[in-house]
Amino acid sequence: MKIAVISGDGIGPEVTKQALKVLDAVSKKYNFSYEVEEVLMGGTAIDKTGIPLPEETVNVCLNSDAVLLGAVGGVKWDTLPGHLRPEAGLLGLRKALGVFANLRPAILFPQLKSASTLKEEVLGDGLDIMVIRELIGGAYFGEKKRIETEEGTKAWDTMMYSAHEIERISHVAFKAAMKRKNKLTLVDKANVLESSRLWREIVFKIAKEYPEVDLSTMYVDNAAMQLIRNPRQFDLILTENLFGDILSDEASMLTGSLGMLPSASLGEGKRGLYEPIHGSAPDIAGQDKANPVAAILSVAMMLRYSFDMEEAANSIEVAVSKVLDEGYRTLDIHEIETKIVGTEMMGDLIAERI
Ligand code: NAD
Repeated sequence: MKIAVISGDGIGPEVTKQALKVLDAVSKKYNFSYEVEEVLMGGTAIDKTGIPLPEETVNVCLNSDAVLLGAVGGVKWDTLPGHLRPEAGLLGLRKALGVFANLRPAILFPQLKSASTLKEEVLGDGLDIMVIRELIGGAYFGEKKRIETEEGTKAWDTMMYSAHEIERISHVAFKAAMKRKNKLTLVDKANVLESSRLWREIVFKIAKEYPEVDLSTMYVDNAAMQLIRNPRQFDLILTENLFGDILSDEASMLTGSLGMLPSASLGEGKRGLYEPIHGSAPDIAGQDKANPVAAILSVAMMLRYSFDMEEAANSIEVAVSKVLDEGYRTLDIHEIETKIVGTEMMGDLIAERI
């Protein structure tokens, strides 16, 4: 197993260090070996090489089985032109890796229920939803234009999808459903949009290859409402880029804790890019205050999706849950009567519980 590691900027290196600590503990327990190669991207790459995504980084990532990323960005590089900013490195890397499916779990551990904005009775035993968002098609990438006419300025964006783009992400979604509860909801606007009607046609065609998965559909306006009214009705949501951008943020914020949520971006084949959903948090960088759980759970996703090591992935999630049960919290999730620990200690506790 070859893993490219991009620690990045701000809290990136701190949380990535804990993620690698936990990976080491898991590898000992499950008896597997792996190679790690550290590469540069983002602000640290700009400082050392002048550009946010050096060619060597792309090559190492392309030759790896998985990429683990901390976070990139920071005030220091905010005044650079767009193509030279740290975030340009991330977009470039996603493109180079061809990752078209973004998997974002919204997990609310029952121990952290009070962090959610939802009432306890709505949350039940906690939440575990995943949104799979198409990442490199639709309105964000279709033709866009602005013209001056006699009636004034007009602008448009084109929400276009090819059957191929829908097919490939459908396979990712059905396979992910089979690793979860065999339940998939396609979210679209098929009552109005032609592109949504194509999504339905293709997704239902692909569904025949996965008879064990229970597929249903929901209009996006209803889905936005249902996520707040009764989020536990969902297990896995599949949707196009624009809808997914909005719904995945809505779903993750139901859990109320940025520092707890991992993500995976997948393409054809098994290689994936795994990263916490949070940014580089410059306000707490270098102070041993960052919550490393999102980075640690990103390792669990990596083991599950790139290496098919379900049991090892579960062991990480169980260890996180145990540490929460014992009352340990980083500053961002602490409440009265819990024990505050730093980044390093949180990593140690989780690694020990493996
Ligand atoms: P952010 O996610 O970095 O921080 C938002 C708030 O959440 C801050 O108060 C921060 O302290 C807190 N926070 C974030 N992660 C935390 C953690 N693990 N533990 C405890 N608290 C945590 O978002 P921002 O402030 O909007 O952006 C800061 C920088 O990060 C910017 O340069 C931005 O472009 C970049 N960014 C990068 C990524 C990425 O690398 N994928 C994603 C988002 C933002």
